[in-house]
Amino acid sequence: MTDQRVISLWDMSTEEPDYVSPMDGDIATDLAIVGGGFTGLSTALHAAERGLHCHVLEARRVGYGGSGRNVGLVNAGLWLPPQDVRALLGEARGAALIEILGEAPAYVFSLIDRHRIQCEAKRNGSIHAAHSPKGYDDLARRAEEWHRIGAPVDLLSRAEAAEKIGSQAFHGGLLDHRAGLINPMGYVRGLARAARAAGATISTGVTAKALRRVGNKWIVDTDQGTVTANWVVLGTNAYTHGLWPGLENTFTKIYFFQVATEPLGDRADGVLSQGQGLWDTGPVMFSLRRDDFGRIIIGSMGKVIGDQDGLSRRWAARTLRRLFPDLGDVAFETFWHGAIALMPDHLPRIHRLDKGLYTPIGYNGRGIAPGTIFGKAMAELLAGGRERDLPLPIKDPATVGSARVMSGLYQAAFTANQLWKSL
Ligand SMILES: Cc1cc2nc3c(=O)[nH]c(=O)nc-3n(C[C@H](O)[C@H](O)[C@H](O)COP(=O)(O)OP(=O)(O)OC[C@H]3O[C@@H](n4cnc5c(N)ncnc54)[C@H](O)[C@@H]3O)c2cc1C
Repeated sequence: MTDQRVISLWDMSTEEPDYVSPMDGDIATDLAIVGGGFTGLSTALHAAERGLHCHVLEARRVGYGGSGRNVGLVNAGLWLPPQDVRALLGEARGAALIEILGEAPAYVFSLIDRHRIQCEAKRNGSIHAAHSPKGYDDLARRAEEWHRIGAPVDLLSRAEAAEKIGSQAFHGGLLDHRAGLINPMGYVRGLARAARAAGATISTGVTAKALRRVGNKWIVDTDQGTVTANWVVLGTNAYTHGLWPGLENTFTKIYFFQVATEPLGDRADGVLSQGQGLWDTGPVMFSLRRDDFGRIIIGSMGKVIGDQDGLSRRWAARTLRRLFPDLGDVAFETFWHGAIALMPDHLPRIHRLDKGLYTPIGYNGRGIAPGTIFGKAMAELLAGGRERDLPLPIKDPATVGSARVMSGLYQAAFTANQLWKSL
């Protein structure tokens, strides 16, 4: 089924209930938050815990964006190796960010525990798998730096990776013990539940149309009334569109798709048998994991193309056959994709768009832990903190001149990759 009305497999399989609530007339609050994903809801949870009144506006449903569609790899650090983060941000800021985001998965799992979030959480680490000898060299370079700063990662030999993954296809791997796996829709719905319990209000099916500064207040015009607030945080990431002029041109929008098999019972037991999730070092990255119901979920860059007989199904079948020749034929149940905000230097941003108006954005496909942490940092700032204590220095938004063209070129390359790997 290619059904974009269903957000993802996670939308159907999580036990955390959806929360739906229309907006009820004009509202005045301390903090207006646009976007019901990890960033917006973590901001709401932590701001409400600090005594701020806050109101979250979500255009569709909680988790409609990347938060309800992703792979569920709760990874430490950023997509870039730690040494590259330091080179880009400077020694002190870079090292501080790496430390904060190194501890971020533990914080995510502590929230899951504290709020009893039902999201198939597993803390068995994640595997960055080498697709080639060159990929292995890249992992060795990452491992050396992580070891230097005392992070619990293991560089896996080819045989060790094969044993953990259940496939001979990889040239080794990097096992990061800080990481884990979740059902991301379960986590984001759990954050919404926790934020409401802390006192935040959430309205769904409400689109923020415009932001106006009137006196010392912000007015958010929506399709269902206005929200007047002292501060506004935009948690719209790759799903931002037209609300703040030019914001969607500060990143390149790319897509990542996933395909889930039917529950396979003990046939899938040999696949990632120790419960890790995986992504690889290939230039067109792919991901692999299982869920609690015996499904294998496999994904790669690009959009879903076709349905049960389409290109993405053929790509998934062919890739699983290549990795796990003994698995046999499998049926596929669910196909979906989501948008990623890719920054030119692969570093996320925190922008102050105007006085009292902020947005953390540009997670480059790694937003579970960073979105949670940046939301918490927003709350700490607005509850009396200082901008200089944010995990990232505030930066002015910069337009990526060729964002739309680049987006189209990436999509063409990802489609060609699916086609090539389906043959
Ligand atoms: C397929 C895929 C796989 C990924 N895999 C991983 C992974 O394994 N691990 C990881 O850490 N990260 C992963 N990511 C990245 C991660 O999902 C995102 O970085 C993260 O979800 C961003 O969260 P967010 O809250 O900032 O934005 P989102 O979750 O995208 O939420 C933005 C929300 O804003 C709402 N919105 C937009 N405009 C308006 C408006 N005007 N009014 C009201 N609401 C509005 C949207 O409806 C949407 O719900 C993946 C992303 C994708 C797409």
